[in-house]
Amino acid sequence: MTTYPACRHCGTEMPLTFVDLGLSAVANSYVPMDKAGEPEPKYTLHTRVCEKCWLVQVDEDVPPEKIFTSDYAYFSSFSDSWLAHAKAYTEKMTKRLHLGPDSLVIEIASNDGYLLKNFVANGIPVLGVEPSGSVAAAAEKIGVPTLVEFFGEAVAKRLYDEGKRPNLICSANVLAHVPDINDFVAGVAQLLTGDAVYTVEFPHLLRLIEEVQFDTIYHEHYSYLSLLAVETIFASKGLRVFDVEELPTHGGSLRVYACRKEATHREGVGLAKVRADEKDARLDSAAGYAGFSEKVEAVREGLMRFLAEATGQGKHVAAYGAAAKGNTLLNYCGIGPDLIDYCVDRNPAKQNTLLPGSRIPVFDVDELRKRQPDFVLILPWNLKAEVIKQLSDLRSGGTRFVTAVPAILITA
Ligand SMILES: [Zn+2]
Repeated sequence: MTTYPACRHCGTEMPLTFVDLGLSAVANSYVPMDKAGEPEPKYTLHTRVCEKCWLVQVDEDVPPEKIFTSDYAYFSSFSDSWLAHAKAYTEKMTKRLHLGPDSLVIEIASNDGYLLKNFVANGIPVLGVEPSGSVAAAAEKIGVPTLVEFFGEAVAKRLYDEGKRPNLICSANVLAHVPDINDFVAGVAQLLTGDAVYTVEFPHLLRLIEEVQFDTIYHEHYSYLSLLAVETIFASKGLRVFDVEELPTHGGSLRVYACRKEATHREGVGLAKVRADEKDARLDSAAGYAGFSEKVEAVREGLMRFLAEATGQGKHVAAYGAAAKGNTLLNYCGIGPDLIDYCVDRNPAKQNTLLPGSRIPVFDVDELRKRQPDFVLILPWNLKAEVIKQLSDLRSGGTRFVTAVPAILITA
C-alpha cells in the first residue's frame, strides 16, 4: 500500500497533489561566484492538499538551518513599498489598540527592525524575535531589541515566565515559513492574555490559485494558507479569528486578527466576507484545488516562447530582483544564463553571487544602465509598478519591461 506524507497540522495522509514543481535548489541560497563549480543540494518541491483541514503544504521539509542561516540574505528594508506598508500598519494598530508607553509589542520574525522601529519612535516598548543573526544585528543597531531565536512554544513560555505580557503580537509572512505550525501557534496562544491581539499577514491561497502565483511556492514556504485552514489551526490552540483585512501585498494577502477564544473582541465584517469567498471557490473540497498544475504549465510555455523569440532575434534579456519567487520560476522553467544574461538586485548581499539553481549572475542595478538590455523580466511581479518607476530612465531609452505571472505581459 502506498503511504502519503502526513499533514503538518492534523497528521492526515495527503494523496492529493496541488502542484509538483520537481527538483529545486533552496531559493535563498545565493551561490558565491568563487563556488560556481560546486554542486548545490536540490530538494523536491511538491505541494499537497490535506483533505481534512485543507492546509496546502510542501511535502518534503528542508531543515530550517539550511534555509534561515546567519547569512540569510533577506533584508526587509530593501523594498520601499514594504516599508510604507509596515509604517501604515503600526499607526493603525497604535490607534486601534490604544498602544502607549505601558504597552508591549512583540514581532515574530522581526527581520531588520523595519516595522518595530516605528513603534520605538513613538515610545512604545517592543521586542523582536528573529532567527537570523545578521538581520537581528541590523535591528539592534537602530534601537530595536531583538532576541535571536526561532519562535515556538518553548521560547514563548520562557518570555511568559519572564513576565512578558504583550498587548499585540504581530507577524508578517512568517506563519507560512514555519515547519511546525502547531508549535508556532501554541507559542502565540501562550503569550496572549486577556484581550491581547495577534495579527498575522500571509499571502492568500485564494489569490495564489486564481492568479497562478505558483512562483510563491518555495522550500522555505512550508504552508499556503487559506482563512479556512488558519481558523482550524488557531482553534486547535484556543484562539479565534475575529477580523480579516484583504491587502494588496505579495499579490494579495490576508491580515488576520486573532485573540483568545474568551476575549471580548467582536467579529468584523471582513471575516464573513472572506469566509464566503473561500466557500464560493470551494476551498473546502478537492474541487477547489483541481486544475492548478495545468495552469502552471501554461505559464512556463508562455515564458519559454517569449524568451526563445527574443533571444532568437538577438535581443538581450536581463532580470530584475533576485527574489525567492524568481528562483522558483527560473528553476521550474529550466532557464539559465543562455536565456537571461544576468539579474540585478538592490541588496548588496545578493550582488556578485549566482542565483541558486539557474546560476544566473546577480549584479548591482546600475548594470542595467551600462548594458541597456532590450527586455527586463521583473521577477517580483508584486513590485512591478515600483520597479518600473525606479527604472523610468531605461524605459525612455527603449528597454521594455516584462512579467511572466499569471501570463506574459510586455509593458509598452
Ligand atoms: Zn490537515
